[in-house]
Amino acid sequence: MAADTIKRREVGDRDVEIEILFCGVCHSDLHFVRNEWSDAMPATYPAVPGHEIVGRIRKVGSSASKHKVGDLVGVGCMVGGDIANCPYCKAGNEQFSPTTVWTYGSMEPIIGGPTYGGYSESIVVDEHFALRMPANLPLAAAAPLLCAGITTYSPLRHWKVGPGKKVGVVGIGGLGHMGVKFARAMGAHVVVFTTSPGKVEDAMRLGAHEVVISRNADEVAKHTYTFDFILDAVSADHDINALLRLLKPEGTMCMLGAPEKPLSVSAFSLLFGRKSLAGSPIGSIAETQEMLDFCGQHNITADVEIIPIQKINEAYERLLKGDIKYRFSIDMASLKSE
Ligand code: NAP
Ligand code: ZN
Repeated sequence: MAADTIKRREVGDRDVEIEILFCGVCHSDLHFVRNEWSDAMPATYPAVPGHEIVGRIRKVGSSASKHKVGDLVGVGCMVGGDIANCPYCKAGNEQFSPTTVWTYGSMEPIIGGPTYGGYSESIVVDEHFALRMPANLPLAAAAPLLCAGITTYSPLRHWKVGPGKKVGVVGIGGLGHMGVKFARAMGAHVVVFTTSPGKVEDAMRLGAHEVVISRNADEVAKHTYTFDFILDAVSADHDINALLRLLKPEGTMCMLGAPEKPLSVSAFSLLFGRKSLAGSPIGSIAETQEMLDFCGQHNITADVEIIPIQKINEAYERLLKGDIKYRFSIDMASLKSE
């Protein structure tokens, strides 16, 4: 990755311009720039990833009223869409809308060309897609809430995780570590499945009640038929049949990870026990605001390592190896020294 100059659209009536202060580094950024999602979301180059953005409002459009100059806001994976007419948006589910303009890799609706993400100095978005940041959270550690946070919070709420429920979180990376924090804060019994023995102590600190090394089949088998819900946040190929066996009858496993290659599912893993295998993309704008407010109340942020933009290639190498606890957050002030 290298420095370049990009063009943003002028601030329209309903837009806000945001000076970006921090941007988290999601594994989706890495999948995208390596073109590992060539079918679902082919990469175009030059690409500017980044959809865990926090910043300060610098300009406000003439009919925009949600934010004012100086406000601290967050932007996640969505920056626009036909919110006035789309039935999914009108029902409050912008994340399902075919009109959604994604923060990067979409078509820029006004000036054309691709949309460019948050590894940049500023961004212009429809005001609806800018979220209010709680005043008490450190911004570098709050940036990952805009993707890793909402992506784990939304399914935990949708499947009504709470006291009395046994919940598994598989893969303790950027998403998984937020899943552990949320599931614990919601009152569930939380069991972590990790391939990394070095994350066992940490997982307990993050809020897990139990930690299982997922490469140890005997340890995994002890949990057969006991889970109400499992969140799978793994970025690579792995055995999901072994995880489906751990669900109780009528339990659900929700895929969050988006590995490059299709995963194989045995019908028997689902039909015995009438189990469900589901998936979930980010969350709506209203739910993202609810999640941010929840984080403000419970003092929840991501565990971050702050890096200057000049270290991004090194950060990608380390993310590929799982060598990060648990999210890189880019300090955009470093762009000024480019
Ligand atoms: P990440 O920080 O790289 O974490 C992924 C974790 O998966 C690793 O920390 C590791 O956890 C585990 N893992 C990696 N390789 C593995 C393997 N070969 N076998 C088993 N486990 C392995 O990634 P992330 O940013 O959290 O993203 C996770 C996935 O979610 C990515 O595919 C990303 O694109 C996707 N995603 C989806 C959405 C959505 O809307 N659904 C949103 C954001 C991201 P352990 O060390 O604990 O095993
Ligand atoms: Zn993401």
